[in-house]
Amino acid sequence: MRILERIAFVYYDDKKRFPALQKLCPQAEFRFVKDLPAADALREAAAQGVLLALENRKLRAAVLPLRDAPGARLYVLPYDVRSAADPVGIDLSKPRLDYMETEITRVCNLNCRGCCDFSNLANEPGGKFYDYDRYVSDLRQMKKLFWGIEKIRIMGGEPLLNPRLAEYAEAAREIFPDSDLRIVTNGLLLSGLSADVLARVKAADCSFDISNYPPTHRKKAEILHTLKNAGVACNFSVPMRFFFRNILEVPVDDPAPAFNNCIFTHCHMMGDGKLAPCSYAYCISRFNRRFGASYPETDFVDLYAEGLNGWDIRQAFSQPHEFCRCCGSGIIPFRWKGGVHSSDAKKEDWQIRRSFINTTLAPKAQRLVKNAAMTLRARIQKKQ
Ligand code: SF4
Ligand code: SF4
Repeated sequence: MRILERIAFVYYDDKKRFPALQKLCPQAEFRFVKDLPAADALREAAAQGVLLALENRKLRAAVLPLRDAPGARLYVLPYDVRSAADPVGIDLSKPRLDYMETEITRVCNLNCRGCCDFSNLANEPGGKFYDYDRYVSDLRQMKKLFWGIEKIRIMGGEPLLNPRLAEYAEAAREIFPDSDLRIVTNGLLLSGLSADVLARVKAADCSFDISNYPPTHRKKAEILHTLKNAGVACNFSVPMRFFFRNILEVPVDDPAPAFNNCIFTHCHMMGDGKLAPCSYAYCISRFNRRFGASYPETDFVDLYAEGLNGWDIRQAFSQPHEFCRCCGSGIIPFRWKGGVHSSDAKKEDWQIRRSFINTTLAPKAQRLVKNAAMTLRARIQKKQ
């Protein structure tokens, strides 16, 4: 770590970090905060230079009060992200994005019935993979719009089908050193990854989020053994035995009820020069192409649009969008089934009828579980 001389105050939330921080900023005044620094005090201190040595998940909210603070000088040190060993000076003219997914492989080896990314229908003109050069260019463009991204999940389809998996992880890490970086996989191909790929994923401080479908569950011991040997961290989801139908056959007029009760509003997805508010909005063209449907495909921002900034994107994504009119509340479950290729898939694998239950009662029920789900998710993330 290099010594930061122009820092007058260090805010930190973990007393164990104090000795290392003191070496880093011997001249600074230290302020321990249990959670977030008080906004007024932080604004005042920032004119003289502040280092925020806080958990990654707290940084986005912590720096918000400084958005328009004149002359604010700020460094962040999300100490729970190993690759962010050095404090990063941040550009307060940009916001931080909470979460982003990116689909590096469009197809999948499991072809689940009713896949939420419509991977079993994927037949893009651009091929099976997100072009690597375009991916890097899009990540750099994201960096022009946001000073950081709290969590990035590299996913598919099945990302492990992509022969350049390690390079995608390395590029994300290089451009976003402060992100919690993960690869989301069904895990079935993990044991076949070479030692070199696993070592590079580890070196990129990237972990695996493993979706625990029935075939994955049967290979759980083997997968854990592989990752333990390679020293790569992982998180197994709860067993996933059921999927949920979610798309209304006939859209409703008002997108607000679905959006306001939705637990996926943060699931922004980047791909091919675009950022969509959620993966449904991003992937729905596959359904349209396969079944001749006409669900809206315009819910995204063009990352290269002139005059675009991160604050505008955050504002736009905090409101209901067109596809939310087509989104049910996902309470109609069905048993998981793999091997459903495009030719065998049916509209009914995703669609639900528009009814009082689906459009009125279900959003209310979802409202009840939303807060609990958010709290649970925050707790799980904190533990990981
Ligand atoms: S494992 Fe299933 S749900 Fe996940 S991306 Fe593949 S097909 Fe879709
Ligand atoms: S379309 Fe709207 S309601 Fe549906 S998942 Fe996306 S954000 Fe949520």
